[in-house]
This record gives sequence, C-alpha cells and structure tokens, in this order.
Amino acid sequence: MRRLMPIEERFRKFVRVSDGCHEWTSVIRHDGYGSFWVSGRGKQMAHRVAYEIAHGPIPEGRLVLHRCDNRKCVNPVHLYLGSQKDNGRDMDERGRRVGRRKLKTACVSEIVRLINERVLSQEKIARRFGVSQITVSRIKLGQRQYLRELDSRKEI
Ligand SMILES: [Zn+2]
Repeated sequence: MRRLMPIEERFRKFVRVSDGCHEWTSVIRHDGYGSFWVSGRGKQMAHRVAYEIAHGPIPEGRLVLHRCDNRKCVNPVHLYLGSQKDNGRDMDERGRRVGRRKLKTACVSEIVRLINERVLSQEKIARRFGVSQITVSRIKLGQRQYLRELDSRKEI
C-alpha cells in the first residue's frame, strides 16, 4: 500500500466520513467553508485541499464547486472543477441534476418516507443522502409527479 503523504494524513484527522458528505470538523470560515493550514501556503479552503489530494493541483483561476450544496463537505466525489459562471448556474440546476441523475428511486422513496415522518429537517435528510436541500424540497412539493418521472426513466 502507498504511504500516506503527511498532509493527507493530517487532513484526514479533521474529516468525519459518512455515506454522503464528509464533513470538515476543524475551523469553519464565516462563509461556511472549512479552513486548513498548509505549510508554506498558509490557510487554504479545506474542500480545495481535498480536491488536490484526490486529483492533483487545481488549474489557475478555477473553482472547486460542491455538487451537494454543503460547504463543509470535503468528499472528493462531491467536488468538481468549474468557473465562476458555473458557480452561479449551479445554484439553479443542481437540485434537478442531482435529483434526476444521481438519486435512485429507492432513495427517493426513502426521502419521501422521512419527510412524512416529520422527525428530521429537510437539511438533515439532504445531508444523509448527499443531495441539496432544494432536491428534498422539490421531492416534498411534488412527491407523486417526481416518482412518476423517475419511473419513466429507465436509466434510473
Ligand atoms: Zn458533500
């Protein structure tokens, strides 16, 4: 097995891993992003460091964006490279994209069940499934229609 780089090893100590989002447990900036100190570079945004550990250096001027809407999340699977333009567009499309492509019908049924149970908040449900709160809200607003749409799509 490959030896862990010290930075990777140190980084992992601050990450709470779960099935969905991997939450940053150290310093959180006022804007909601995690902060991590890197020798020689100073304070860095934790999700950017997570991306670099997984994929290598981030090209100049590019942003690392969250598919999951959770700024504390450092799960590399939930992160992708984008531009400033993507960042804005992302807010409108993410719920739909994550909802239609990533969620299995079984997950949607489970989300519906949790919503109806009224124990967990939408935010907590969203986090549990690694989707945005917008997606959960959308499912709540149009439960039947949503399930019908999913059923009609073979690939899901
Ligand atoms: Zn996440």
